[in-house]
Amino acid sequence: MVDLHLHTSFSFDSRESAENYVKKAQECGLNILGFSEHYDYDAVLDGEDILPCDIESYLKNAGNLSEKYEDMRILRGIEFGYRREVLPYYEKLLSQYRFDYVINSLHTLKGKGDCYHDRFFEGKELKDCYRDYLQGVLESIVCFPDYDIVGHIGYASRYRRGENVKLCLEDFSELLDDILREIILRGKFLEINTSVGTSGSNFLPDESIIERYISLGGRNLTFGSDAHKAADYLRNYQKARKFLLEKGIDQLYYFIDRKPVAYKI
Ligand SMILES: [Zn+2]
Ligand SMILES: [Zn+2]
Repeated sequence: MVDLHLHTSFSFDSRESAENYVKKAQECGLNILGFSEHYDYDAVLDGEDILPCDIESYLKNAGNLSEKYEDMRILRGIEFGYRREVLPYYEKLLSQYRFDYVINSLHTLKGKGDCYHDRFFEGKELKDCYRDYLQGVLESIVCFPDYDIVGHIGYASRYRRGENVKLCLEDFSELLDDILREIILRGKFLEINTSVGTSGSNFLPDESIIERYISLGGRNLTFGSDAHKAADYLRNYQKARKFLLEKGIDQLYYFIDRKPVAYKI
């Protein structure tokens, strides 16, 4: 069990200490976990600038924890919020700092703001909004030059409420096939994210999309709870495991120094 999607107070939307996750992992008898602090360069949410992670302090803190908890492998990931115009900046950061892995996540669309915010959906058909979001995901997969994992596909559905708000395969089969094929072609990894909010899906992406990925030959999967507090560490891991075993998948991956390592689930 390796949770690669954890946020701490180095992310703008979490107050949790990194150490609390390490203690949680210890309690579970585990010796590896991965942080993925937010870095959305120059992004605005609800009219306010989002402060990106202070990478220097984040890495230093992770280093201190590694010294204190010798038996714990603390992976240093980063979750970059994709926007085409800030890619040169991310490239610069990647040449400056060493991360164990990079999650490529689409949170905002140019001129439309955060994809899960009510405003993103105002006055438009739900499916048109989802299509815009998925087009953005496809663009991020193709244009982001250097990442390992595609984060939480279906993010736009996370806080939708009501019936039929799932973002699933049948409504966008062609577009999703393009997305999944690009992930496979590029040797990237698909994240199973268990922060599903009110989306109606068991995971993000929805099971139907993960199944399609597997049927297309995709085997590169990672697990992430997207926890913003230690209580959510490994959220619904067993549910994901059961689902994967039923589909004939018995391994997942984590990353050390940008290189994938497989583990049995
Ligand atoms: Zn995210
Ligand atoms: Zn996240």
